[in-house]
Amino acid sequence: MRTIIEPFRIKSVEPIRMTTVDERRGLLKAAAWNLFGIASDDVMIDLLTDSGTSAMSAAQWGAVMRGDESYAGSPSFYRFERAVKNLMPFKHVIPTHQGRAAEAILFSIVGGAGHVIPSNTHFDTTRGNIEASGATAVDLVIAEAHDHQSLHPFKGNIDLARLAALLERSSAQIPLVMMTVTNNAGGGQPVSLANLRAAADLAHSYGKPFFIDGCRFAENAWFIKCREAGQDGRAVTDIVRDMFALADGMTMSAKKDAFANIGGWLAVNDDTLAAAARNRLILTEGFPTYGGLAGRDLDAIAVGLEEIVDEQYLRYRVRTNEYIGDKLLALGVPIVQPVGGHAVFVDARRLLPHIPPLQYPGQALAVSLYELGGIRSCEIGTVMFGQQPDGTERAAEMDLVRLAMPRRVYTQSHADYVVEVFEEIVASRAQTRGLRIVSQPPRLRHFTARFERLD
Ligand SMILES: *Cc1c(COP(=O)(O)O)cnc(C)c1O
Repeated sequence: MRTIIEPFRIKSVEPIRMTTVDERRGLLKAAAWNLFGIASDDVMIDLLTDSGTSAMSAAQWGAVMRGDESYAGSPSFYRFERAVKNLMPFKHVIPTHQGRAAEAILFSIVGGAGHVIPSNTHFDTTRGNIEASGATAVDLVIAEAHDHQSLHPFKGNIDLARLAALLERSSAQIPLVMMTVTNNAGGGQPVSLANLRAAADLAHSYGKPFFIDGCRFAENAWFIKCREAGQDGRAVTDIVRDMFALADGMTMSAKKDAFANIGGWLAVNDDTLAAAARNRLILTEGFPTYGGLAGRDLDAIAVGLEEIVDEQYLRYRVRTNEYIGDKLLALGVPIVQPVGGHAVFVDARRLLPHIPPLQYPGQALAVSLYELGGIRSCEIGTVMFGQQPDGTERAAEMDLVRLAMPRRVYTQSHADYVVEVFEEIVASRAQTRGLRIVSQPPRLRHFTARFERLD
């Protein structure tokens, strides 16, 4: 069959409040054309992020009721630990309230001034935690990652020659080597098993531990199964176990590939590192059998981890984004190819070439998507990255708009609707106007900047 159906039925629904173009124009004005200022009740299709927005299954909600809230030694913790170790056989599993808490604990121990942490691409919270410790975060993704038209199947791969050179040059400063799967900051592009293995071997040859930021491990494993030579006959769970068997530790946000609305963990093999991490955990998150979580959250994650490696789910998941991507390409909308695991990235600078980067074509497109269709997306471009520490601004490398797909939340008709809104945007693109910033904070301006539309 050609149609890949949603591999679930809907038991509990949340109504979408329908709004009109006129109503949304008023809401945009009140929010100063910043979509972070729009109440989610006023959004019809919310593609702002795939983080924490998953629909939990009936089995997960059932597990929530079973959650045991004992301070120490809760059975919920043991179910959580067993589910993690079933896929990721690390000796120590340390729950945290989300991924960045795991990063903060890890880098408070192995970071610090003078240290250098290489990765394919650090996610922004990872980079933030590394830099907050005084260390330097280095991104070494392959050159193809920067070429939107390159159809390389594993654009999340690390450049092994550059990693080898860095290890040779700065070995004494490097406490560990990290890899992000999939590469979120690089568009949700996967890393091959061969590249993970080679990076792990390189790290180990210099005596360095190898860590995986595993937030989208299941999507990455699915891409390995579909795209890597010799992997197509294998079970996704076996590929996942192979990926993590290469590593000495991992950080994780359960808000991504664990179908949970909150949660994360740090896992390591090293006993000394685990002891230091647990001491830190007790100060900042909580006792080691609950981290920053309720017992019910741990149970939701335990069930979510069983469901996320379901191959029918993963086929549907990756297809959802490809489906939108194919239709946008047919409309002539430039997107980052191949489509990543959790999102479609639209190249707004090429779609709206009459809007210069400093009039924010990405923001202009995101505003139009909301105005015309009630769709919330996220600018990833000059608004997000253009602000310089000295108060000036310059064009970001690219002006993209990310359509991130929450897991198991929207159906194919929602996807068709998104495409239809793009049809209208393409038809009226010459009239799309840029914006100017009327006020902004000194850092991370995309969250709170206020805009005005140019005439
Ligand atoms: C979301 C994310 C994180 C941080 O996780 P939070 O749960 O949001 O703190 C770290 N790395 C990657 C790749 C992510 O996508």
